[in-house]
Amino acid sequence: MISFTLQGIPVSRGIAIGRAHLLHPAALEVQHYLVGQEQVEAEVLRLQNALAAADRELQKVWADLPADAPSELGAFLDVHSLFLSDPMLAQAPLEIIRTRHYNAEWALVTQIDVLLAQFDEIEDDYLRERKADIAQVADRILKLLTGSATVLPSHTGVDEQNAHMIVVARDISPADMMQFQNSAFVGFVTDEGSHSAHTAIVSRSLGIPAVVGMGNASELIKQDDWLIIDSVAGVVIVAPPQIVLDEYRDKQAELQRIRKKLTRLKKTSAVTKDGTTITLLANIELPEHAHAANEVGASGVGLFRSEFLFMGRNNMLPTEEEQFEAYKTTVVAMKGRPVTIRTLDVGADKPLDESDNSTLNPALGLRAIRYCLAEPQLFLTQLRAILRASAFGEVQLLIPMLSHSFEIDQTLAMVAQARQQLTQLGQAFDPKMKIGAMIEIPAAALSLPMFVKKLDFLSVGTNDLIQYTLAIDRADYAVAHLYDDVHPAILQLLHMTVKAADKAGIPVSICGGMAGDIKLTRLLLGMGFRVLSMPPAQLLEIKQEVMNLDLLQLNATVKKILRSYDPEVIADEIRLLQTL
Ligand code: PEP
Ligand code: MG
Repeated sequence: MISFTLQGIPVSRGIAIGRAHLLHPAALEVQHYLVGQEQVEAEVLRLQNALAAADRELQKVWADLPADAPSELGAFLDVHSLFLSDPMLAQAPLEIIRTRHYNAEWALVTQIDVLLAQFDEIEDDYLRERKADIAQVADRILKLLTGSATVLPSHTGVDEQNAHMIVVARDISPADMMQFQNSAFVGFVTDEGSHSAHTAIVSRSLGIPAVVGMGNASELIKQDDWLIIDSVAGVVIVAPPQIVLDEYRDKQAELQRIRKKLTRLKKTSAVTKDGTTITLLANIELPEHAHAANEVGASGVGLFRSEFLFMGRNNMLPTEEEQFEAYKTTVVAMKGRPVTIRTLDVGADKPLDESDNSTLNPALGLRAIRYCLAEPQLFLTQLRAILRASAFGEVQLLIPMLSHSFEIDQTLAMVAQARQQLTQLGQAFDPKMKIGAMIEIPAAALSLPMFVKKLDFLSVGTNDLIQYTLAIDRADYAVAHLYDDVHPAILQLLHMTVKAADKAGIPVSICGGMAGDIKLTRLLLGMGFRVLSMPPAQLLEIKQEVMNLDLLQLNATVKKILRSYDPEVIADEIRLLQTL
């Protein structure tokens, strides 16, 4: 067997080695035949039974969800249950059997094709991902109709290395992903999917190495092929020669050793060799992630992306009480360390369910604070919930995507109104809660005096700062190669931000992806940043880097980088920084 390598989009870090287990979509294999008039009702009943059984299967997955399962999983299961009970799926195929006499499988795929074609007309990314949900629900019903197994095989009596399997599929539903936890499956590879797809989010939560968007991997890879997933590089090596397999086993073992060793740094302070203390904070998406932040000894939460409480809920937005509980749980879990809660950042690749508009450039549209200011009741509800949580520990309020002075004013007026409402209701909150701005639009970075005058702190969102400065849609794979976090324009904007905050005497942090990139730690600290917020999984590695560097030795090289507009010089000098 000849070895070959496939490239995809890495969604979850790590190395996985195992044999391929192909999950074929049942839809491709259905039988097509006409049933006689006298058999029509029996065929209708067969499909109804399969629909009911699919619903029972979903209920069972629900019931078996471990207590610590990420809450978005429940939301995915809900979406699938809703599809199952929708007349478009529950009724229309029955009519096809009755009127056209198609067998149950044929009637179902006929209707699914109609539904999928309707989704194809829609430009919206989020809704396209719902298309995958429909296909997954159809797959589940078809497997029940054709009697093929929906449960993934178990592996007993095989030696451990051979038992490790990697799922290869066109796409995998988040509900089926649940069966991966504590199973023989160590990774997954899919033809479809994107970085922001739900399945990708779940794989990150479960910490399973995965590469998606592989095109036709499920056709090229054969059952039982040996596979290596390198989800740092986003590649899958098919049928690797023994020498490569051995090399990756060593790399994998090394990664595990490093990870284990790093846990010793959990309680150590992040202090550079020259004695400068650096604050390392965690980015979290859900209250249950506070546990991971504590596990790595984060000094607090630098970014709680609150929109994850709002997404995938079929128009059922969380109430003030529900939000308050989520924020309070997080604040209490962080045991007195500060929690920075970012207000709802929906829009672009994170739309709410109901935002089914097909705006041409959603990243430039009604996103984040723009959305909140257009929906004052929704915003006030969130502000009250966050303020109430501030009575239980240190909370900071972070506002995303500000660019105009009047947006700052309107936001502050809304916070004042929320405070007033709570006071009238006699509800407690911290009257001194700090309010800060995300600096993630070039206009904000170029008008910092406007921000430092009115706000208590700044936090740089490098993911969006890069998207908007370089004009590349961060969700569009076609322009992903233009992403450049050390483009001179980005470095200038970062430097301006840290200088302006220092001059004004207000704290500044970075909470975008650059903060967790170990290749950039020396550069960012050399520029003057002292607070970095990142996914918990990266924190200890960054802490080790902080402890190994001497800021005084970096100064001259960082100055040279900031003076340069030559990408090659910048790249060379950043490499040099690693050796100092
Ligand atoms: C950013 O833009 O860098 C950021 C931290 O926010 P998000 O990735 O949620 O847009
Ligand atoms: Mg952002």
